[in-house]
Amino acid sequence: MKNIITVVGIGPGKPEMMTEEAVEALACSDVIVGYTVYVDLLRDEFPDKEFRTTPMRQEIERCRLCFDLAKEGKRVSLVCSGDAGVYGMAAPMYALLPEYEEVELSVVPGITAANSGAAVLGAPLNHDYCVISLSDLLTPWSVIEKRLQAAIMGDFAIALYNPSSKKRVDYLMRACDIMLAAGAGEDRACGYVESIGREGTKTHVCTLKELRECSVNMFTTVFIGNSQSYLQGDKIITRRGYSI
Ligand code: SAH
Repeated sequence: MKNIITVVGIGPGKPEMMTEEAVEALACSDVIVGYTVYVDLLRDEFPDKEFRTTPMRQEIERCRLCFDLAKEGKRVSLVCSGDAGVYGMAAPMYALLPEYEEVELSVVPGITAANSGAAVLGAPLNHDYCVISLSDLLTPWSVIEKRLQAAIMGDFAIALYNPSSKKRVDYLMRACDIMLAAGAGEDRACGYVESIGREGTKTHVCTLKELRECSVNMFTTVFIGNSQSYLQGDKIITRRGYSI
């Protein structure tokens, strides 16, 4: 029998936003592996489990740790925030899998920040939309720029992940300038949600021109409406075309 590793998306933070399948996968595992912040969200829920953490930027070490634990015969869950297949660990785990013939891998989906954040803001993604990460750690900025331009040209609503970090303070402003230059109006409905499903959730809605000046942190997902989106109080609504 093969050793089993499950890559589990745990949703944005609070336990109620985890799927039953994710809870079951964690309950069935001997060891739960993850980035310190996400593992800390689970300790209270699963007090009898062994937890192993690795810091940020040690993603591949974290993956190898899972395979090593599985080889010892342990049933392993690797947790990711949101969905494990959205800027998560599902892909690197599959990339390493051929090195470990005795291991079987499966993925359990989770609610990604675009969808949990959209629910907080009303209905900003209620038509065709795309997700774009502003992190240029693994993607050249020239590619990110092209994707932002293409998204505006295609009139997609957009969820921006990784909108800022200590080293990338002006990236959101740069992204706004690219979208404005690509034809998005200054009054385009925009907003952001910080710490979705966690303590201290914060939301803000504004125009694209105003978003340029906003300072957001790395626990924030930013929403850009399409040309038909509008602000209604503290919500962003993207029309689907119904005659109302
Ligand atoms: N796999 C995750 C995304 C990881 S990339 C998912 O599917 O949600 C990290 C980025 O995700 C953050 O910079 C932020 O933009 C977004 N994010 C993840 N969790 C969040 C939360 N609880 N609140 C707000 N944004 C979040």
